[in-house]
Amino acid sequence: MPKCIFCMIANKEIPSDIVYEDDQILAFRDLEPQAPVHVLIVPKKHIASLDNMTQEDQALLGYLMYKVPDIAKELELVNGYRLVNNCGEDGMQTVHHLHFHLLGKRKMTWPPG
Ligand code: 5GP
Ligand code: ZN
Repeated sequence: MPKCIFCMIANKEIPSDIVYEDDQILAFRDLEPQAPVHVLIVPKKHIASLDNMTQEDQALLGYLMYKVPDIAKELELVNGYRLVNNCGEDGMQTVHHLHFHLLGKRKMTWPPG
């Protein structure tokens, strides 16, 4: 099985533009940004998707959510932002390591495509 690309990023086996890191989570800029600020926030632990999290991941994902406003503040998203998770086939998830898109510095539209 090919190695997970976000695990490789978390392990610094491939480079990325990191904007926040601690022992549990990593935030790095998306390769194909869909907004002036487009960052992916991931747990360092490999969890394939929201559907694959277990009870023991509750604290980790609660911690990740708790850090979102801090990361947004660091990126100067003073006017708000959008946090997106694509889950599974219908969600159009393409990388199977749980991640949240943090998008900002432009007005978003609704509904999403
Ligand atoms: P998904 O479609 O799974 O929700 O989002 C995957 C995201 O990962 C996409 O926005 C894509 O541009 C981004 N991405 C894919 N490969 C890489 C990579 O190697 N480095 C970075 N920084 N982003 C990536
Ligand atoms: Zn992974």
